[in-house]
Amino acid sequence: MHKREADNFRRVLEIKRSELAGGSSDRDEILIQHAADEFDRLQQQLNREVAIRNLDRETRLLRSVEAALARFDDETFGVCLRCDEEIPERRLRAVPWASYCLDCQERIDQRLASGLTEDSAA
Ligand SMILES: [Zn+2]
Repeated sequence: MHKREADNFRRVLEIKRSELAGGSSDRDEILIQHAADEFDRLQQQLNREVAIRNLDRETRLLRSVEAALARFDDETFGVCLRCDEEIPERRLRAVPWASYCLDCQERIDQRLASGLTEDSAA
């Protein structure tokens, strides 16, 4: 990958990181509130569960983005962690924090779907 392209991806990842690290309004939903009304309480609990799921997803994404940024320092950005092949730029444009090429990702997803952890799949 050319340096100029790598710099572009890096910038995209840095922006994404600050977006994710900046947090979201979801955090407010997680705070336990005391509603007097039973219905309000159920609604709050539901919002809270959704917010926790969103936050969980954002946390995982943030970790992927940070890992991708760290790979710039190792000069391994854009290299599949599993097969050491270059990840096609088309894929990186869609998912700049991708750790794997599409083939490997599909294999990992299949293993995850069958109940194995990401570590054992990689
Ligand atoms: Zn691969």
